[in-house]
Amino acid sequence: VPPTDLEALRGAVRGPVEETAAARERAGRDGSHLNGRPRAVLAPRDVDDVVAAVAWARSTGIPLVPRGGGTSLDGESVPADGAVVVDLSGWRTIREVSALERWARVEPGVVNLDLQHALAPHRMFFPPNPGSWATSTIGGHVGTNASGPRSFRYGPTRAWVRALEVVLGTGERARLGSIAPKRSVGPELGELLVGSEGTLGIVTEVTVRLAPRPAVRWGAVVPVPPGARLGALAGRLAAAPGTGLSALEFVDAACARALVTGRGVDWPADGPLVLLEIEADDPADADARLGRVAAVLRAAGVPGIARRYDDADRLWSERGASGIVLDEQYGERIREDVAVPLPAVDALAAAIDGIARAEGVPVYTFGHLGEGSLHPNFVVDPTSPPADRIRSALYDAALGLGGTISGEHGVGRVKRPFVARELGPTGVRLLRAMKAACDPDGILNPGKLYPP
Ligand SMILES: Cc1cc2nc3c(=O)[nH]c(=O)nc-3n(C[C@H](O)[C@H](O)[C@H](O)COP(=O)(O)OP(=O)(O)OC[C@H]3O[C@@H](n4cnc5c(N)ncnc54)[C@H](O)[C@@H]3O)c2cc1C
Repeated sequence: VPPTDLEALRGAVRGPVEETAAARERAGRDGSHLNGRPRAVLAPRDVDDVVAAVAWARSTGIPLVPRGGGTSLDGESVPADGAVVVDLSGWRTIREVSALERWARVEPGVVNLDLQHALAPHRMFFPPNPGSWATSTIGGHVGTNASGPRSFRYGPTRAWVRALEVVLGTGERARLGSIAPKRSVGPELGELLVGSEGTLGIVTEVTVRLAPRPAVRWGAVVPVPPGARLGALAGRLAAAPGTGLSALEFVDAACARALVTGRGVDWPADGPLVLLEIEADDPADADARLGRVAAVLRAAGVPGIARRYDDADRLWSERGASGIVLDEQYGERIREDVAVPLPAVDALAAAIDGIARAEGVPVYTFGHLGEGSLHPNFVVDPTSPPADRIRSALYDAALGLGGTISGEHGVGRVKRPFVARELGPTGVRLLRAMKAACDPDGILNPGKLYPP
């Protein structure tokens, strides 16, 4: 980048344009194994800065990469070399909350957990709760359509975005969506931005939907006999009336052991576990609901509940430590994220074991059982040829079972070569048409999502 280009950017915006090695190094990474070398990091002060940066990018051809918490797992926020990162993590204001109408208007850099704390006095919450919620942002959730354990009941970010303000790659400012509780004016354009990984526009405000906060949320740990049919069990639990079930998760025996030894988590570690959450009006109600869950388990040949949590979030933070424990014990590895229809989840688990055996690598699997979504962690150098073979075989297995190559993390750089397998030529054509309409010069987050 000629220095004059960055000087022109500095002249066009009011926010700082940092070029220090430390700032560039920080903005060059995300939660994946990948690295990029951005030229500079812009912290825009306001929407006018974002508009000016897009105009600058269009005139110079230097790409921009929007960034929130930088926690994505497939290189979604790893910049192309020479790009300018647009860091929105300082945009942390919750602008307005309407408990009556169940929405909150927030800046994109608001961290999930901060939003939850701010909503508590309103007796509301924002349902997507990814494991990264202490550091990931609402703008990033829009970028990747993030979700967490509670999406079993509530669905992913896509279901919780009402309206967006965005600066498209054309430089146009647009407000997409509406705060009207219902609407039928063509396809919902704001939804097209959800999961677009910063490739169509830079989101400058999000109006999220809110849900009433349940009074009581209990968690439970359920040991399942090895060989139990998990898909059928999940289906029976999901169909049982009066349980208030809001999350249904899975941890395999290896992963449970890693958490027990590495984190001192108080779980049985001699077999796979199902973790679940129920919502209730008060403790007596929760007790009755958990009793109904236990009855379904017994009928399915599962002895019962090993441990109960009065605060489900404690269970989810213990389970969320699985990534950290595996980081500590094994370092870099493939952290995968595939999903299939519920009846196919056992076949997917078997395929995962088969792939690991064929390559001779250990595998640790956890995931969102109730949504057929598994995160196998293959302990192998993610840049090695075996890693390429594992990914390819895993995606083929998921697609062959009627599933998807990403349940929730996104495509980024890692899965980009495989997107066409899932979307087919027509899907790819539509995706590219959207890109051409929103970012005709290709200046937003190049090298992601769209098949090469
Ligand atoms: C420990 C750990 C646990 C995780 N658990 C989960 C989980 O349970 N479920 C899940 O879904 N994911 C999970 N993730 C992945 C990740 O946290 C989510 O994808 C999250 O939504 C990313 O948010 P972020 O603020 O870090 O976004 P970033 O990584 O900064 O960005 C993500 C994408 O969104 C784009 N983007 C960011 N801000 C904007 C904006 N304002 N406008 C336009 N585009 C933007 C970026 O360009 C990028 O493509 C986990 C990650 C880690 C490290």
